Formats: sequence, structure tokens, C-alpha cells
Amino acid sequence: MALTRAIVLSSEVFGEADRYIQFLTRDWGVISTLAKAARKSKRRYVGGLDIFCHSEINVRGDIPNRAYLVELTVLNSFTKLRDDLDKILIAGQLVQWVRKLADVATPIPQIYSLLGQTLALLEAQSDPARLSLLGLVFRLKLISHLGFHPRTEACARCNQEGELAIFDLGSGGLICTECKPTSDHWELYPEERQFITHAKDLRLTRFEEVQFSEKPTQRMLHLITQFTSFHTHAKLPV
Ligand SMILES: [Zn+2]
Repeated sequence: MALTRAIVLSSEVFGEADRYIQFLTRDWGVISTLAKAARKSKRRYVGGLDIFCHSEINVRGDIPNRAYLVELTVLNSFTKLRDDLDKILIAGQLVQWVRKLADVATPIPQIYSLLGQTLALLEAQSDPARLSLLGLVFRLKLISHLGFHPRTEACARCNQEGELAIFDLGSGGLICTECKPTSDHWELYPEERQFITHAKDLRLTRFEEVQFSEKPTQRMLHLITQFTSFHTHAKLPV
């Protein structure tokens, strides 16, 4: 048997009594496990099979392809998050981003920590206006961990520093005024450029200090979603 910590990404009914649970694990990346008799034996899995649940899991069989969930101990079921529809929607989007971009059975401990920390912050957040901002920071940090953060320090086409005001999806980031965009492109305000440049280095433990207003947050959510879809061909929720 093998033990790790994991967050439920999805839970599907399988046959009469079983469920397939997709976990983002701390040690093995994303894996699917069969939870035998999950629909009858609530006691064994003590409510830990619901999406977002964070648990210590005990697995048998071949990881990642033929693994069976033996038992689990719930660390956090994010009960308060589940009471708030906006929070559930945003948490669902974060999980979708992980499923579409990081569905690999190799260890990605930074992404496991990022998702766990973000869900905890989402649950604790008392200001509804800051929920989208948290979603934006999560997306920027996620793509940065996956190695395709947009280029923002110098022109993504000619490498010059100078004035970078246009975000060109095809070039992979900001471009200078001398270069021509290669695809759909966005003109960014200085505060938007600054935010995109620095968000990947933000510490989530200091999220409360992050200031960025609602309108640019929504604009940057659309931009980063388009950028990521452009480069990965994944269909991602904004
Ligand atoms: Zn240039």
C-alpha cells in the first residue's frame, strides 16, 4: 500500500456501487483510483470522495493506471466553501484548469500546494469582490509552474526592453512599439502589465495585501485564458 496526500479533482459513478476518483496527489501527480463500493460504504471514505476534498489517501495496485483506493482520512473538506455558490463556481474553474493543463502522472508538488492553498484562501475569503482576483493569481501561478508564463520583461519578438504596451498572443507576451503583432493582441494599461509581470512571484500567504481592481481583473482573466488556450489548445473556463 502507498500513502500520500491528495485533492479530489473529479468523482464519477462507475457501475452499480463503485466510483472513479481523480486525485491531484502530492507525490504522484494526477491519478485515477477506483473506490470500490463507494456508494454503499460511506463509512470507509467518510465523505472524502466529494470534489475539492483534501485527504490523506491509502492506495493499492499499480499507480497511476490500476490503483484502488483503500481508505482515506479527510484533512479538509472545505465545508464553508460549499455553502457559497460563487466560491463553488470559482473552485470548480480552478480544478478544471488543473485537469486540462496538468493531467500527468508525474509529481507536481508545487501545483498540489497551489491548489490546496488557493482552495483554503477561497474558503476564508470574506470579500466577494476579491474572489475573481484570487482566481486570476491562481491561473498566473499555475501557468508559470507549467513553464509557459507570458514574456513580460523584454519584447517577446525582438528582445529589446523599451516600451511594451501590446500583449500579442502569438508572440507569447508583451511586444514593443516597433514590432508588429502576429495574432490577436491586447493593449494593456501600465497597471495591467505590472500585475501580469509580478503575479507569478506573489506569495499566496500575503494575498490580502494584493491590490488590483475589479475591471482590470476581469480583463486579465479573459486575456490569460485566451493566451493559455492559444498555446495549449485546451478549452478553459474564464
Ligand atoms: Zn520588439
